Amino acid sequence: VVILGIETSCDDTAAAVVRGNGEILSQVVSSQADLLSRYGGVAPKMAEEGHSLVINQVVQQALDNAKLTEKNLSAVAVTIGPGLSLCLRVGVCKARRIAGKFSLPIISVHHMEAHALVARLVEKDLQFPFLALLISGGHNLLILAHGLGHYVQLGTTIDDAIGEAYDKTARWLGLDMRKGGGPALEELAREGDAKAIKFSIPMRQHKDCNFSYAGLKTQVRIAIESKNLSVENNSISSTSSHERRLRADIAASFQRVAVLHLEERCERAIEWAMNIEPSIKCLVVSGGVASNQYVRTRLNHVVEKNGLQLVCPPPSLCTDNV
Ligand code: ATP
Ligand code: FE
Repeated sequence: VVILGIETSCDDTAAAVVRGNGEILSQVVSSQADLLSRYGGVAPKMAEEGHSLVINQVVQQALDNAKLTEKNLSAVAVTIGPGLSLCLRVGVCKARRIAGKFSLPIISVHHMEAHALVARLVEKDLQFPFLALLISGGHNLLILAHGLGHYVQLGTTIDDAIGEAYDKTARWLGLDMRKGGGPALEELAREGDAKAIKFSIPMRQHKDCNFSYAGLKTQVRIAIESKNLSVENNSISSTSSHERRLRADIAASFQRVAVLHLEERCERAIEWAMNIEPSIKCLVVSGGVASNQYVRTRLNHVVEKNGLQLVCPPPSLCTDNV
């Protein structure tokens, strides 16, 4: 079995060829990151044009790299959401064209389901049911996966996702956003004192598994402004060592509380899930933020304490389309 996967949910145009046994034969990504940093966000119409320009090339390249042609495919998988509908359509149309030509089945993929199930590529004996924490730029989800297509949502964010909070904080601290706000912030946080600034942990009065990061973002912004650090045009490379230290303290303190929030919610989700499905053995953590080493270490603690196993795909499979 050989499957072509296509993903165009946001700004990247991506295609991969994967065998039924999970072996990845090729992965090709065409990024619009340059456009993005110039315009400060994704403009759907522009992103759609970007996808349309490169989709044929990207798919062809993925097939060439796998040394296969369309004729060798068994099925075409394509992201159908969530995402920008104009962009999703480019991928779906391409998938339909190929599938139509060779009478192949189309597998429609939910982007967040893919973030969760990618764990099965690396952990071959991962069994349902399992618990999954999905932490990315747009989502913060705790789900109980009973089986393929059978998911119970235990918690979601009531405002922002943790990745958005990392990205905003990184931007305000003047970090180099080219390698992504999250990784840059993780790096700076290593130099800082995580107890230097007392941010409060979100949603403690709510005894559920939901998340909130908007309040923490505001706390960070206030901390930056109260230390007279500018939040605009403030590249960290041009600051004094004292000021760099202040910024590192904010980064470390933010990260500590952002992740404490995850830890508390996971602790509760494990308790809930164990009541529903006592046979659960794993917590899968995936999505871009799951590539963060500090996040992994802290969650591993929580999981081990509860007698479970942490399954975290390698960073290249946690984030979208690397
Ligand atoms: P979604 O999957 O919700 O649609 P997305 O596709 O933008 O959102 P991903 O590509 O899965 O999300 O993840 C990107 C997010 O992960 C960004 O917010 C990025 O800052 C964050 N991220 C990546 N690496 C790290 C890291 N090392 N530490 C913290 N955050 C990180
Ligand atoms: Fe994603």
